[in-house]
Amino acid sequence: MTTIELEFAQHPSTSPRTPEQREAILASPGFGNHFTDHTTVVDYAVDASGAGGWGNARLEAYGPIALDPAAAVLHYGQEIFEGMKAYRHADNSMWTFRPEANAARLNRSAARLALPQLPESIFLESLRQLVSADKEWVPTRDGESLYLRPFMIATEAFLGVRPAREVSFRVIASPAANYFGGELAPVSIWLSRNYARAGRGGTGAAKCGGNYAASLAAQLEAEAHDCKQVLFLDQFNDNAVEELGGMNVFFVFKDGTLVTPSLTGTILEGITRSSIIQLAKDRGLTVQERKITLDEWREGVSAGDITEVFACGTAAVITPIGQLKDGDDVIGAPDSRAGEVTMSIREQLLGIQTGVSEDVHGWLTRLV
Ligand SMILES: *Cc1c(COP(=O)(O)O)cnc(C)c1O
Repeated sequence: MTTIELEFAQHPSTSPRTPEQREAILASPGFGNHFTDHTTVVDYAVDASGAGGWGNARLEAYGPIALDPAAAVLHYGQEIFEGMKAYRHADNSMWTFRPEANAARLNRSAARLALPQLPESIFLESLRQLVSADKEWVPTRDGESLYLRPFMIATEAFLGVRPAREVSFRVIASPAANYFGGELAPVSIWLSRNYARAGRGGTGAAKCGGNYAASLAAQLEAEAHDCKQVLFLDQFNDNAVEELGGMNVFFVFKDGTLVTPSLTGTILEGITRSSIIQLAKDRGLTVQERKITLDEWREGVSAGDITEVFACGTAAVITPIGQLKDGDDVIGAPDSRAGEVTMSIREQLLGIQTGVSEDVHGWLTRLV
């Protein structure tokens, strides 16, 4: 892809939060509740000759988006997004983790949702511009970060069904504490028997809002059974384990082998997942990307062969899974403790991201 440099017009907020207001929010940010003072925006349009291009790049005040009620995103869900974080290091420099992987994945999602390709250079500059304007919002406390949410929406006002010819790419930012809140206790997961997240040829490998909309009914079932997240299976493939609504899964075997479901086209290719595979290999552990079925999980836990199970993704990093509830059936135990391998890989990954461990793979990019 060609490198395109766009000049970002500067329209800073005329009413940013006061330092006191910001500090009050940063005292207890939660996850996804509060947003910084700015946003970056880049627009795409197809001209009369049929050629498309990105332009009108700008930094502006965070606020409501004016959209025509006929905008395609509101009707046909032509939308994709990314999730990443900015970390403040001890010297106050600010970094993000493997942003080129997010840029590449955004473009794979864009191709699937018939949205335009966004040059990596524009993606990165949008992050840089936003984090420089809102650097005071990057939390300073351990385990906290500034969650970055790049997204692309079809803005064209047209109800005919075809890919929109007007699109916007935006980035917003939200200070984030631990995703699930509180201590790192193993979570209970609900097995979805009534709903699938993705099907062959569908959008499971794309990071799009529609996948999340489709997962919410299952999420409600989970909550009704005191579970935090939903596990989806491929019921047409021997109940192969796929992933959670927004996180990939790993199994740790007693001989130290890590197993994670292979990327079949219905699983989202997590950047945390691929980083864990690399870190585990660096430790000399065997990592298998393969099919793992519900039966293997059940039997592996009861025989003591599977010793730890965890979920991973940018928002929650690595979260131990205590038990899987399948109706009245349960795999694992509610009072299980976070496993050693889970915790040690989590520490290492967080250490790299926050600048306290060596970044041997060059995964960090400085933003500010
Ligand atoms: C974003 C996401 C993940 C995790 O991806 P990361 O790049 O590790 O944050 C996993 N599954 C789904 C469905 C996702 O949307």
